Amino acid sequence: MAITDQTDVQEMTFGDVRVSRVIESAGNLYMTPSQFFPNSEPQMWERPGAWNEPEFLIPAGDSVHEHTHRVAMQTWVLRSAGKVILIDTGVGNDKERPYVPLWSHLDGDFLDRLAAAGVKPEDVDVVVNTHIHPDHTGWNTVLRDRVWTSTFPNATYYMTTEDLEFWNPVNGHSTVLGPAAQNMWEDSIAPILASGQVKEWSGTERIDENLVLEAAPGHTPGSSLLRLTSGGQEVLFVGDILHTPLQVGEPAVNSCFCQDPEVAVETRRRVFSEAAAKGILMFPAHFTGRGAFTVRAEGDGFVLAGWAPLVSA
Ligand SMILES: [Zn+2]
Repeated sequence: MAITDQTDVQEMTFGDVRVSRVIESAGNLYMTPSQFFPNSEPQMWERPGAWNEPEFLIPAGDSVHEHTHRVAMQTWVLRSAGKVILIDTGVGNDKERPYVPLWSHLDGDFLDRLAAAGVKPEDVDVVVNTHIHPDHTGWNTVLRDRVWTSTFPNATYYMTTEDLEFWNPVNGHSTVLGPAAQNMWEDSIAPILASGQVKEWSGTERIDENLVLEAAPGHTPGSSLLRLTSGGQEVLFVGDILHTPLQVGEPAVNSCFCQDPEVAVETRRRVFSEAAAKGILMFPAHFTGRGAFTVRAEGDGFVLAGWAPLVSA
């Protein structure tokens, strides 16, 4: 299984909505379990489970505690009600991220991969940033003649009021990302506000007859999920409410990038409970390989019940 070379377009259909996966990159985040998930207990990682598979942890050293997390930066492309919708826009090219070399001055072929999925920038009608973080807003813009310009000239970009307020530098909030988010507002958000393409929303927001955005706060104040309901099927694009399958059984474990840990746990439990009760497939933002999963309730927590068939070649 060549997980590092995930270049193939993968698709699933739910009712009248076609979902395609376009991967910007899939690889090593260079963070160990205790770095990425500071409130996890060491023994949790030693148990057998999907979180230990190479799809999610890259072996390094003799112990699971030395392994480093594998994450995908990817966009879910939805064709719904005659429109093209992108969920999250990855890290982007040419961004200056002085404290995150992994995300700085990239020169990737994301737009070619999007084209391979049949989407040209001018075809995109809607962009959803599930939340405002540098790995979800990167391709909002491209550098053209040294000016940050909207990548998708005809798109409406959905962003929450809460995240717009939180990240606007004039409001002076301190964030758990700290300098890792340096320049993000200026290069990926402000240009979209300036071009008048931002649709600000709060609470819930219907995109079309199949798609609704809903608040899912904690990871950031304005984090959200997208609910797809069509032809009697229902799935959730849950953004960053989890980053590893370990969090299914341990919903109190947060990533170090969760802004409000208590609210993040509350949201995770609420969403998992609903997904377990209804057997809903959940698409997290960063899972590689099989990509999406179902859960069932067990005891005080949840267990993985099944995977989507998104295994890459
Ligand atoms: Zn993320």
